Amino acid sequence: MHIDVVGLTGGIGSGKTAAAEHFATLGVPVVDTDVIAHSLTAADGAAMPAIAQAFGDAVRMADGALDRVAMRQLVFAQPALRQQLEAILHPLIRAESVRQLQQARGPYAVLVVPLLFESPDYLALVQRSLLVDCPESLQIERVMARSGLTADAVRAIMAAQLPRQQKLASADDVIDNGGSLALLQLQVEAKHQYYLANLAHCQ
Ligand code: ATP
Repeated sequence: MHIDVVGLTGGIGSGKTAAAEHFATLGVPVVDTDVIAHSLTAADGAAMPAIAQAFGDAVRMADGALDRVAMRQLVFAQPALRQQLEAILHPLIRAESVRQLQQARGPYAVLVVPLLFESPDYLALVQRSLLVDCPESLQIERVMARSGLTADAVRAIMAAQLPRQQKLASADDVIDNGGSLALLQLQVEAKHQYYLANLAHCQ
């Protein structure tokens, strides 16, 4: 990679997207693996032919895009099917992440990976890890407000992710998103100055 990459991570609803958006307003190129996953599974997405072949047309909506609700129901409690889906998607997501990072122009780039510490393939792409952290009660509150999921459903997703303390122990840098959005943005700006001073010279 020709520029250094900061891996931005955090549990569900921790504020990764909000932090990434602020890095983008500061002129930092942002590559988001969730955004890539969505475009790969859009109507004309590169993953759709393989997904339709493996799972049938029942997981496609009328316009050809992935029917996320149907797919979730199909792989729920069927680890083999989940693995099959991931075997199709993960190499495509990673390859597209690398392609976008190679095209990125800036002092450094931010790569958003929700499960960064659980994913050696992505850890290998980053020079530093930046964790967006907040109390679990706030994660639950924010995700419920955004998506209408129940507290138990959010807790179940959190239980499948690395525990908060392990993430904190693994991260090079941490942003505390337990306060307002303005406070989150101030911390992003402070990290940006740090990365400019410590990463940008490596181009
Ligand atoms: P996911 O893992 O689900 O993609 P995320 O980590 O990207 O989530 P965001 O989407 O940035 O998290 O934030 C989750 C929700 O909480 C959003 O609706 C966002 O606007 C809101 N939010 C984030 N940070 C704050 C904050 N400091 N104060 C108030 N609301 C916030």
